[in-house]
Amino acid sequence: MNNIAEQLGLAYHNLNEKCSALAIAPDKLQLIAVSKTKPASAIVAAYNAGQRHFGENYPQELAEKAAELQQYRDIVWHFIGPLQSNKTKLVAEHAHWVHSLDRLKIAQRLASQRPPAMGVLKVLLQINISDEASKAGISTAEMLPLAHQISALPMLQLKGLMAIPAPGQSEAAFVAMQQLSNSLQQHYPHATELSMGMSDDWPQALRYGATMIRLGTAIFGARDYDKE
Ligand SMILES: *Cc1c(COP(=O)(O)O)cnc(C)c1O
Repeated sequence: MNNIAEQLGLAYHNLNEKCSALAIAPDKLQLIAVSKTKPASAIVAAYNAGQRHFGENYPQELAEKAAELQQYRDIVWHFIGPLQSNKTKLVAEHAHWVHSLDRLKIAQRLASQRPPAMGVLKVLLQINISDEASKAGISTAEMLPLAHQISALPMLQLKGLMAIPAPGQSEAAFVAMQQLSNSLQQHYPHATELSMGMSDDWPQALRYGATMIRLGTAIFGARDYDKE
């Protein structure tokens, strides 16, 4: 478990160096530790090393870990995986953020299932920026209409955009996402978050305005099994 603290320390060190090279204030950036498939003990190890924001991909796994770790009251849970309508309740009841919103129906269910005591659920629209047939996310043309519908719903707060570029196409995707984020912010000035960049491509993401980067392997090591 010390290994996790070390890897986390190294990730922040690298991140801070890159931020200073690019003249980005490090406090403008949120590192999300993606703990999918990893045990709760790995999350505790990262928590004890100071990490508070964690990302999960599977609704059931998020719900189980959030319940198991409920004494760690200041953990911030980010749901970053594909979301089917029969699983929205688990996410509405446990997540603080959803990065992967791409349908009005899902948004409506999250809004109606959100326990009022938890406050608003912060959401990002997932953009299928590399236009992959197999990938989740909306097209760029769908962004403003969906943003408009979502901003009318109670209990949800539109905070920005998320993308997972196709392999080898990160840079072009990040350039496009930065432009898209700027155009979203012209209509929704508070939707400033841009969730992009993973273990392999985060330095490029920073260059193009990422505000949240999602690191799994770089912190927790290779995943034991791969459900992606
Ligand atoms: C798994 C996953 C990550 C983390 O990926 P790594 O390459 O292990 O850093 C980030 N974002 C999403 C959406 C993921 O599913």
